[in-house]
Amino acid sequence: MVVVMSPDATAEQIDAVVTRVRTTGGEAFVSRGVQRTIVGLVGVIDDFRALNLRSMPGVADVIAVSTPYKLVSVDHQPARSTVVVGAGTGARPVRIGPDTFTLIAGPCAVESLEQTLEAAEMAKAAGATLLRGGAFKPRAAPREFQGLGKVGLHILAEVREVTGLPVVTEVIDPADADLVAGYADMLQVGARNMQNTSLLQAVGGAGKPVLLKRGIQATVDEWLMAAEYVAQRGNLDIVLCERGIRTFETATATTLDIAAVPVVQRLSHLPVIVDPSHSAARRDLVLPLSRAAIAVGADGILVDVHPDPEAALCDGPQSLAGADVRELASTLRRLVPASGRVLG
Ligand code: PEP
Repeated sequence: MVVVMSPDATAEQIDAVVTRVRTTGGEAFVSRGVQRTIVGLVGVIDDFRALNLRSMPGVADVIAVSTPYKLVSVDHQPARSTVVVGAGTGARPVRIGPDTFTLIAGPCAVESLEQTLEAAEMAKAAGATLLRGGAFKPRAAPREFQGLGKVGLHILAEVREVTGLPVVTEVIDPADADLVAGYADMLQVGARNMQNTSLLQAVGGAGKPVLLKRGIQATVDEWLMAAEYVAQRGNLDIVLCERGIRTFETATATTLDIAAVPVVQRLSHLPVIVDPSHSAARRDLVLPLSRAAIAVGADGILVDVHPDPEAALCDGPQSLAGADVRELASTLRRLVPASGRVLG
């Protein structure tokens, strides 16, 4: 933390700041510049916050220089994390982290047992180790399909039984976090809810790994602060998902911020994956953006697949089927080992 004194601060006012800081057992280092004096604080930041330094005479500003996302930061843990999903459920546990490249795939929305099973088989054949599927769908338009809710959760659990694929699905209401955790292996917080702090705390306390998507208007710092809300509940099993941000470009639904992957990796130890489906919302861009995700060093991708995209109740135009899924599979099998990782 740094205290910036006003240009006209007196020596007594600077001394008063130093004296107050030392009451906490911390240390204050005074640096006198031509225009201003700054006081650098070393000690416990929460103790300094309680001192109300900003209201002292002669103080112009107080700036926190340590990150507000301590638990998820590389300062807290320099080594990259691996998040294990599906341990102890009978399904094959999935390791998302620096050694693997994980394909998470499935239908955007769970529509029926048949459709979800078919999509899961397609996903598995393509190399997916984790099944995605929305039971609670946060749609922008209120009259669009909102998901099957609890019935959808039953379907996902049944499909896990058949395919052995652990399941990730979205929670949109904090009150449903425990319900969804009773069925799913990983809880997704979607882009629209990235800053819903009650939801973040609820999923953080639900005892399952969390897939945290980036809000379309969120900076990387805001995204990591959202992750910190989850971590504060004692849950560090968090995977971040870059899914595009809103820009002036209209060719794609949102602009995939591919640079966010290495940016996050410099700031946080958490795994980070890319969603090429929801970012562009265009089937023809899923493959190029997936290649970009591998090349940039992401820990995986999340892809919508559907047995009949034309009939999909949700996000058909971005869903892969047939030859497109096969092409994705062969691309992953070729490029992932070349990137030094194992597909799985
Ligand atoms: C989804 O993954 O189903 C979804 C709705 O994505 P996003 O929250 O990124 O829009």
